[in-house]
Amino acid sequence: MKYYSTNRQTPEVSLRDAVIKGLAADNGLFMPEIIHKFSPAFFETIQNLTFQEIAFEVALKFFGEDIPESKLREIIYDTLSFDCPVVQITENIYSLELFHGPTLAFKDVGARFMARLLNYFLADRNKKVNVLVATSGDTGSAVANGFLGVEGIHVYVLYPKGKVSKIQESQFTTLGQNITALEIDGTFDDCQHLVKTAFLDKELNEKLVLTSANSINVARFLPQSFYYFNAFARLKQMGKLDGKELVFSVPSGNFGNLTAGLFAREMGLPVAKFIAANNANHVVYDYLKTSDYQPRSSVETLANAMDVGTPSNFARILDLYGHNHKIISDLISGCWYSDEQIGAIVQSVYSKHNYLCDPHGACGFQALEESLKDNQVGVFLETAHPAKFTETMEKLLGTGEIPLPEALAHFMTRKKKSCELGKEYSFFKTFLLNEG
Ligand SMILES: *Cc1c(COP(=O)(O)O)cnc(C)c1O
Repeated sequence: MKYYSTNRQTPEVSLRDAVIKGLAADNGLFMPEIIHKFSPAFFETIQNLTFQEIAFEVALKFFGEDIPESKLREIIYDTLSFDCPVVQITENIYSLELFHGPTLAFKDVGARFMARLLNYFLADRNKKVNVLVATSGDTGSAVANGFLGVEGIHVYVLYPKGKVSKIQESQFTTLGQNITALEIDGTFDDCQHLVKTAFLDKELNEKLVLTSANSINVARFLPQSFYYFNAFARLKQMGKLDGKELVFSVPSGNFGNLTAGLFAREMGLPVAKFIAANNANHVVYDYLKTSDYQPRSSVETLANAMDVGTPSNFARILDLYGHNHKIISDLISGCWYSDEQIGAIVQSVYSKHNYLCDPHGACGFQALEESLKDNQVGVFLETAHPAKFTETMEKLLGTGEIPLPEALAHFMTRKKKSCELGKEYSFFKTFLLNEG
């Protein structure tokens, strides 16, 4: 299958090139030229399939032309070595728990898939590939752990100094091997800007093979559609969807997760509506209300993985619906919560329903609580394990409430290693040239 750029100023490329390049030459994001639909019959029996079986069927639709079936199956089954269960919270609200992977966040799915796909495409290559990834928290750990020890690939994780939690930081600064952590004196947007600038730097790209592992990479964002199908299947299996509409509420930052949900719907998944749940960084909320899109600097919040002022995947949403504000705002509604509200939601979900929402999932839950109709079933994406935000959670709930899962405790005992850099591009470029 061919992939075109959302800016449409550059020729279409193969899957292999789209994955290796990450960003199109005209600075646009790659989109698959065709979104194959499932027949309605597929959805009648989908509940009989396991998560891996469903994911494989979805993957075939996107990647079947480009990867041998047996290899694709191997990549899928290896990527999804953990479950994404649906858990009932209220009468009609469910949590899609995406935190059962190795770094306890949904980004494990895309990162593990991409590492395996890149490894497949690069098997015949002898030049080292450098993966650049900017993170506001969870991307860095998922990507670093997804790629850890993969031969021929070196990962540089750029993160804003002092703006990610200790636990998050420990998951990408303690690994060593082929993972280098760069602590940037700036914001997440500064980190993202450095990575984007590097990809467009001709001189650098002549000397080094660079690729991105941010959610702009098709190999990271498309696999995120798998768990939307799985959520539908599991709800159907439980008999919860009879005569009801399905609504997904997605805690959103760069909008990769929500865009993957839109792709699932374009493939035929019966979804009535999406809700984009935001924190105080709400440029998309404003767009949905006014049709005016004004990216701005991000502000810090309790839900820090959503502290994004220029959501990169928004270009994909515009492209998918021909930049038609009416279509987009009919399908996606927005809402946003202040830190004070997020704190209150975490507390009330815990006291009323005995369920621990992390600060991101809390936004997703509340959006459903406020807007679901009687004929609707709502699923919010619980995007990370609450223990990843222990400092915040313990402050909100009182200490001793959040036992640290073993996977996280393990990271915390290891020694941090990172390189500090200023936010000017020249520092970053010099660093890469010296290292690479
Ligand atoms: C990355 C992340 C988000 C935002 O996801 P996007 O795909 O960037 O919109 C939400 N919650 C958590 C915990 C995350 O790590």
